[in-house]
Amino acid sequence: MKLSDRVEALAESATLAVTAKAAQLKAEGVDVVSFGAGEPDFDTPDNIKQAAIRAINEGQTKYSKPATGIAPVKAAICEKLARENELKYDPSQVIVTSGGKMACYLAIQALINPGDEVIIPVPYWVSYPEMVKLAGGVPVFLEGDENDSFKFSPAMLEKAITPKTRMLIFNSPSNPGGFTYHPEEVDAISKVVTNHDVVVLADEIYDRLRYGGQGFKSFAATSAKAYEQTLTLIGASKTYSMTGWRAGYVAGPVPIIKAMAKLQSQSTSGACTFVQHGLIEALTGDQSEVEKMRVEFEKRAEHIHHRLTALPGVSCNKPTGAFYVFPNVSRTYPKLGVSNSVEFSQVVLEKAHVAVVPGAAFGMDACVRFSFACSMEQIDKGLDRLAEFLI
Ligand code: PLP
Repeated sequence: MKLSDRVEALAESATLAVTAKAAQLKAEGVDVVSFGAGEPDFDTPDNIKQAAIRAINEGQTKYSKPATGIAPVKAAICEKLARENELKYDPSQVIVTSGGKMACYLAIQALINPGDEVIIPVPYWVSYPEMVKLAGGVPVFLEGDENDSFKFSPAMLEKAITPKTRMLIFNSPSNPGGFTYHPEEVDAISKVVTNHDVVVLADEIYDRLRYGGQGFKSFAATSAKAYEQTLTLIGASKTYSMTGWRAGYVAGPVPIIKAMAKLQSQSTSGACTFVQHGLIEALTGDQSEVEKMRVEFEKRAEHIHHRLTALPGVSCNKPTGAFYVFPNVSRTYPKLGVSNSVEFSQVVLEKAHVAVVPGAAFGMDACVRFSFACSMEQIDKGLDRLAEFLI
């Protein structure tokens, strides 16, 4: 069977081997503690579920009209962005998509020509480089500084920009890094970007999941010029525990939104209609469940960081956002007889029955990703096993 060159060129996920092994062990009855989840372990708040059920019962089961999102959801998104992100958008600048992942895909397809360079800070969310390659673009990796929670500096960015640079992907709070750029850091990075003809894909999907009083500023809110150069991407998956609903959105310059709309009209025909009704309730209804989830994540962030830093050969920054922690475990490699993060994850899974995601999947082989979208009991159980295994 001949497959397309595009698909042949896509990398296999480095996480596959470990997740397949974890699934196999579980099927054999082994009690595996998994830190692999990329989704909150809470249920979707009931008011959101009820809004979608009402929409179904009222017959909101046809194509989304328009395909870019129904008018009330665009209004709710504009209201959210004004209220929480200090961003003023008109509904004509908004597109609703089947999840944030689709939003990233459409943005990259709309903007990147073969040979265009896209700066991707490392560690990165797994899908960015592959999406860029699918568009024929060239990922240019910008490695963050471990001493600065893996963040990159404005000077590092300036050096990475070339006449071929078309886009910077800026993800804060970060998956997998668990770090968040401070408002003044976002301002400084924005000053560099606005001197160049570069679009920023600001992936702010974890914008409300921040801990320890961590400040936040949306990239587009840094200046009028930055606003003109930025696509603000958010979604319901993480904040409202709605990963299965597939609800994302982007706000930005009208010509780019129109281009994304054209692609969407020829591919998915837009987000599910009754999901959009759920999204309206998520954005405009009672927000107390979001705060409850955030507070629980904050406690776990504190606890898992405390436990990880007590392990021999492991160093780690305290998470300030998202629900991941990204320790450097490379100093344990010689003792364990492994040479990279995939082998580390395999041995830890086989011997300690703990599943983590190898940092290689995120461009950083010295680290592994732990998600703390699991209970405190699971965190302690997994870390007890690791402590026993590593000491
Ligand atoms: N961006 C980041 C940084 C993510 O971690 C994820 C999900 O893991 C997404 C975007 C896409 O999320 P979804 O497609 O569920 O909205």
